[in-house]
Order: sequence, then C-alpha cells, then structure tokens
Amino acid sequence: MADLQPVRGTHDLLPEDMRGHRHVTDTARHVALRYGFEEMATPIFEFTNVFARTLGDTSDVVTKEMYTFEDRGGDSITLRPENTAGVARAYMSNGLAQHAPCKFFYNGPMFRYERPQKGRLRQFHQIGVELIGPAQPQADVEVIACGVAILKGLDLYKETTLELNTLGDPESRDAYRTVLVDYFSGHKDKLSEDSLNRLERNPLRILDSKDEGDRELVKNAPVFSDYLNEASRDFFKALTDGLTALDIAYEWNPRLVRGLDYYCHTAFEFTTTALGAQGTVMAGGRYDGLIGQMGGQPTPGVGWAAGIERLSMLAGNAPAAKRPVVIVPMGGEAEVKALRIAEDLRAEDLRVEMAYSGNMKKRMKHANKVNARFAVVLGDDELAKGVAGLKDLDSGKQQEVPLANLAQVLAENA
Ligand code: ATP
Ligand code: MG
Repeated sequence: MADLQPVRGTHDLLPEDMRGHRHVTDTARHVALRYGFEEMATPIFEFTNVFARTLGDTSDVVTKEMYTFEDRGGDSITLRPENTAGVARAYMSNGLAQHAPCKFFYNGPMFRYERPQKGRLRQFHQIGVELIGPAQPQADVEVIACGVAILKGLDLYKETTLELNTLGDPESRDAYRTVLVDYFSGHKDKLSEDSLNRLERNPLRILDSKDEGDRELVKNAPVFSDYLNEASRDFFKALTDGLTALDIAYEWNPRLVRGLDYYCHTAFEFTTTALGAQGTVMAGGRYDGLIGQMGGQPTPGVGWAAGIERLSMLAGNAPAAKRPVVIVPMGGEAEVKALRIAEDLRAEDLRVEMAYSGNMKKRMKHANKVNARFAVVLGDDELAKGVAGLKDLDSGKQQEVPLANLAQVLAENA
C-alpha cells in the first residue's frame, strides 16, 4: 500500500542506523565541546523569510528545494533546509549579542526537495558549528580545526581532502563579479537557462553549476584570486598560515563557491572519493553579511555543516550494541524472583532481557538470538541455595554465583 511507504527521500533510522547516526553525533558533540561549542537547537520550521531572504533568491535551495507551506493561520512556513539562518535568527531573537562571541554546536534534521539518490535525501541530518562574533581569520582556523578533530574522532580524516578557497570581501567580490559578467556575456549562447538567469542576479553561482556546458565555460573563466584586494589576500594568507601551523593540509580550489549567498572570504569543503557523486561530507565558510542582511546589527560569523548520513556511510559498520544479559527463569517462583533481579541489574547499568517463555532450551535459544553475553539461570535448586547459574555464552562455561554478588560479577565481565 503506497501510503505505508515512507515519503520518497525520507527513511527510517532503524536501531542499527541509529547507532551509526549516534556515533557521529556523540563524537561530534564531545569534540565540539572541547573547542567551546555548546549544543543548541532551533525549531525545525521558521517563517519562510528567514531562509528566503538570507540564502539568496537565486540559490538552488531557495528556488527549487524548500518545503514551504501556509499554516492554518496564513503564515508562510518553511521546514529548515539548513541551520545557519536559524541559528542567526535565534542569536537575534534572544539578544545574544551581549554574550558574543557565541559558539554553538547543533544536530538535527534538515529538509530539501531534492532528487533522492545515494547520500542525497529529502529529510537528512546535519551536525554543525557556528562561531558568531569574531572577524579574525583565527576564528576560521579554529572552526576548521574543530571539523578536522571531529573527522579524526570518527577515524575519517584520512579519507577526506580539505578544499579551500576565498570569496574575498564585498569590494573584491564586486570587482570579480564585473569581469565574470563580461566573460559569460560573451558566451550567452552556450549558457544553460539557469545560468542565464544567474548572470544578471548572481553570476558567481554559475561557477557552481552542475550543467555540462556551463562547466566547460567555467574552465576558462577568470579566477577570483586575480581580483582580490589586499585586505582579502591578507585574510586568506592568515587563514592558510594558521592551518599550516596546525599541520592541516588543504588544496586550494579556485572554483569552490558555496551554494548559499551569504558567504565571504573563507569557503571550504571536506570531500571524499569514497561516496561516489555525493562526495562532500562537511562544508562551510564565513558569513559576515548574514546577520546584517537579516536586519540585525552587522556581525561576522563562520561555521560549517556536515551530513550525518554521509559521515555515517563513510564510517561503515555502526558500533556494536551493548550485549545484554538474559535472565532464564524456570518455574513460577523463579519467574517472580527474576523480575526483581532484572531490575537490580538494570540499576547497575547492565542491559537485561528476560527469556519469558518455553522450556529451558527455547529460553537459551532466545538468549543466543539476542546475542547475549551471559545467561542467568534461575531454577528451584538455585533459588533454594540463594544462587544463580551464570552461563558465559561465549565460552559455554557455567558457574554458580550467590545472588548477592551477581551484579558485581556481571558488571566486571559483561
Ligand atoms: P551538494 O552540493 O551535495 O548539494 P550543498 O552545497 O547543497 O551540497 P550544504 O548546504 O553545504 O550542501 O550542506 C552541508 C552538508 O550537508 C553537505 O556537504 C552534505 O554532507 C549534507 N547534505 C546537503 N544536502 C544533503 C541531502 N539532500 N542529503 C544528504 N546530505 C546532504
Ligand atoms: Mg545541494
């Protein structure tokens, strides 16, 4: 039945997926905190303007990918396609400027109406960090270093390449924009329709086009680095010097522009060849114009976001679940006693399951099926003696353990 299928591009996170997912978020949260990024969360929907005004009205996200609807009160609402605009909105709504610099970590679902494929979903999940306040390139270094530490924490750093570029300050951007428009205007006949549109409104975006014909033209387009003013060059040099001082290798990619409108200076992506076409796992940059553009006091910021599904896929097998202890009671009295014992063991932070039904053989089979580490056998004989039969399901060895010591013995061995 069609309506029992999940919506295209969404998927269930079954326990094994969830373990992989949580491995990413737990590791990232833990590492981010070492860098001073504390977790926060914004609502998963906002007024549409929060995104429409900031991401740029020519960005793919705004023109094609947003989940926008009118709510019952007539407001235009959008499911967040990314979290930087939401964090910036929260920074203003909560008057956080008085606490600047602010450092945030977030994790949660994002929504984009995209063509679903491997590593590209309509509901996907991101982790991210935002550092709001400092205009210094050292902040960019710290944000990138935090990303590196998280990738290392996940044991994925070696599989990624840091691609880096600068988009310069507004003055450099205007200068570059002019030569780009000149260049592409001379090749209008070869530009895709999308890019013809971008030519007027945001020619830089053409550099990011996925159209084959556009890509050919882009190969010979003027390069941003030739149009950077001195301040922009200095900023980029301070950034790369900082990365070098931390032994963070990078590749300069002059064609790297970020898909969203609010970036300046630093743009970067951690990419991998191990995931096919969807090779960008973490991406970010500096967004000094964002908060001003949203109507706030102009405030610089820098951050990145990473796709949890892509990171989790790259990391491979999810970490194993904690193996349970299974209680195997035989007889009415033992069954009652077993409930108490299970509670006591859980209070000691052990994972405990009950083998509820069947003969001894069937209950032991259940223990094996749930991959239990130990079975605790409770029969009339054991109860009479105040012990349990503790069976190590890996070695097959069984021993008698006084009930009073059970929790301790299991805690030491399970
Ligand atoms: P792409 O070029 O792959 O569309 P993007 O520039 O749109 O990426 P960002 O907005 O920078 O992506 O998002 C940061 C990260 O979030 C990406 O690098 C990727 O890991 C992840 N991501 C983005 N869109 C999706 C999606 N639809 N499904 C799964 N992960 C995604
Ligand atoms: Mg995209």
